[in-house]
Amino acid sequence: MNYYSTNGTAPMADLKKAVVKGLAEDRGLYMPEHIKTLPQAFFDNIQDMSFRDIAYNVAAAFFGEDVDGDALQDIVYDTLSFDCPVVKVTDNIYSLELFHGPTLAFKDVGARFMARLLQYFLRRSGNDEQVNVLVATSGDTGSAVANGFLGVEGIHVYVLYPKGKVSPIQECQFTTLGHNITAIEVDGVFDDCQALVKSAFMDAELNEHMRLTSANSINVARFLPQAFYYFNAYAQLRRQGKADSMVVCVPSGNFGNICAGLFAKRMGLPIKHFIAANNANDVFYQYLQTGIYTPQPSIQTIANAMDVGDPSNFARIYDLYGKDWKAIRTDISGATYTDEQIADTMRQVFKTTGYVCDPHGACGFRALSERLRDGETGVFLETAHPAKFKQTVDNILGSDIEIPAKLQAFMNGKKQSVAMSSDFKAFKQFLLSE
Ligand SMILES: *Cc1c(COP(=O)(O)O)cnc(C)c1O
Repeated sequence: MNYYSTNGTAPMADLKKAVVKGLAEDRGLYMPEHIKTLPQAFFDNIQDMSFRDIAYNVAAAFFGEDVDGDALQDIVYDTLSFDCPVVKVTDNIYSLELFHGPTLAFKDVGARFMARLLQYFLRRSGNDEQVNVLVATSGDTGSAVANGFLGVEGIHVYVLYPKGKVSPIQECQFTTLGHNITAIEVDGVFDDCQALVKSAFMDAELNEHMRLTSANSINVARFLPQAFYYFNAYAQLRRQGKADSMVVCVPSGNFGNICAGLFAKRMGLPIKHFIAANNANDVFYQYLQTGIYTPQPSIQTIANAMDVGDPSNFARIYDLYGKDWKAIRTDISGATYTDEQIADTMRQVFKTTGYVCDPHGACGFRALSERLRDGETGVFLETAHPAKFKQTVDNILGSDIEIPAKLQAFMNGKKQSVAMSSDFKAFKQFLLSE
């Protein structure tokens, strides 16, 4: 399958190039040239299939031309070493829990899949020179990428994060791993980390010295596998006879997760409607109202993984719908909530149902509770385990929520990181000496 750029001027890329490069030469995002619809027989039998087999069928539609069947099955099975259950919260609202993976958030799925797919291409090319992944993080991406790539032979990961700006719970998820993961603590803010990574990609001498690649969330290998759990959610609701009018609500930041859901719908998955739930960063919501897309500086909120003022995957959604605002509005509604509304929702849900939402999932729940019509079943994506945001959640609920063993294990590990100034010369020298 070929991949074109949303900016329209870069040459087509094959899957390997799209995965290794991430972004097209014209700075556009790669899109698959075709989206295959899955056969009716697949949907007829879906409720009898395992998550892994559902996912394999979806993966084959995207990657089957480029990855040999056994290898693809292996990659999919390895990625889905954990479940994504649908849990009933109220009579008509379900939580799709995407936090049962290694770092307790949905990014685990795409990160692991990308690691294994990249490894597949490297092995097949017979070039055993090490590949180095550089990733800048403000928290969640670094932990997912580091754990996804942990122990993957032939690939070394450098995670750059801003000193003192990442919560201790997040920090321990990428600083305690060792092996092929190096954490770099930058004396600066997130933007400094990002600038270091960008400079490294553009530095000729460095690129002579080592093979560099990114593991950015815009990578097709990270976002497409997120379609897997939409199909699996449908299968689970089918088993309960609740799948007929399914409305899916996705707490959104860079809009990669919802974009994967829109692809699933395009493949034939009968989702009636989508809601993109946002915190105070309401650029997409405003776009739906006005038809005009105006990026904004990001605003800090308690749902901080969604503090995005210029969602990168907007370009994909716009392209998927032929740049047609009305068509986008037909399939997707928006919602935007203040921190106070998010906190109120978390308290309300906990009080009435006993379910603990994290701040991101709470946006999803609230949008469904405001918008669902009779006969519809709502599913919101619970994008992270509430313990990842323990301090915020405990403050709001007056609780002392339990930290899952997986997370506790990271917290017991020994922090190892390399201190770095935000000056590119020092970072370059460090990489050259590696
Ligand atoms: C990354 C993230 C989001 C936003 O997902 P996008 O794909 O960027 O829209 C929402 N919640 C959590 C917990 C996240 O880590």
